[in-house]
Amino acid sequence: MINQLQITNLKVSIAENKIIKGLSLIVNPGEIHAIMGPNGSGKSTLANTLAGHPDYDVLSGSVYLQNKNGKKVELSENILEMSPDERANLGLFLAFQYPVEVPGVRVQNFLKLAYESRFKDRPERQFKKAIDFRKNLQKIAKDLNINVEFLSRGLNEGFSGGEKKQLEILQMTLLEPKFAILDETDSGLDIDAIKKVSQGVNNIIKKYNTGIILITHYQRILDYLKPDFVHVMINGKIVESGDSSIVNKLEKKGYAGL
Ligand code: ADP
Ligand code: MG
Repeated sequence: MINQLQITNLKVSIAENKIIKGLSLIVNPGEIHAIMGPNGSGKSTLANTLAGHPDYDVLSGSVYLQNKNGKKVELSENILEMSPDERANLGLFLAFQYPVEVPGVRVQNFLKLAYESRFKDRPERQFKKAIDFRKNLQKIAKDLNINVEFLSRGLNEGFSGGEKKQLEILQMTLLEPKFAILDETDSGLDIDAIKKVSQGVNNIIKKYNTGIILITHYQRILDYLKPDFVHVMINGKIVESGDSSIVNKLEKKGYAGL
């Protein structure tokens, strides 16, 4: 049983600039941790580092999944040393921005590859026929009120911001993540889309007991996705952690008030 995501004293630089300057965070299954902070504080750097984006240099620190079997506690290898595929295989979901240019790749084929990689150690989870995978995918899409015609469209063919986020939730539902990092999943969405996306995430948590790191600028999504913890990140560090009352404080006083 995986029972914890542990980020310890993480320091990360990009293009020789130190961006994350000693960040530690523990996430348990089923918890929502909101990370808020001003522009440029390093939130996306954290998400991209966890995703294994090659531009980011990890200077020090570690990220482990802790497994608990009865009383026995063991740690995974350091996730920061794994390939993005290996991370996904462990059940880490990192909502990559879609690759900017992937001409011709259909949504359903992209998702099939992601699915096969996620469950490659679980032959019983593989679909023998492509059509069976598609049927399963269509069912998930229908349950999420997502237009099934999206599935046969090219990955980058004219999806609106809100539709892209819906597809992200579809992908997340399909991959049954143990832990997920969502970077500004709410940005650019109208209120109905925020509700829909939040509902999708809440269902995933309920179904798979997923632990969530939710990076956001705005308090609004937090009306629908109730965080257990709120962390304020400024200049590469978490400077304050607490319950959701921090959000109200931020609304009133801004980051400068901390
Ligand atoms: P946030 O998501 O909190 O707004 P980011 O993690 O995107 O912040 O960025 C943190 C800092 O890192 C910013 O000062 C940004 O300019 C810098 N940065 C991000 N990506 C790069 C890059 N590819 N090259 C140089 N600096 C970068
Ligand atoms: Mg960002």
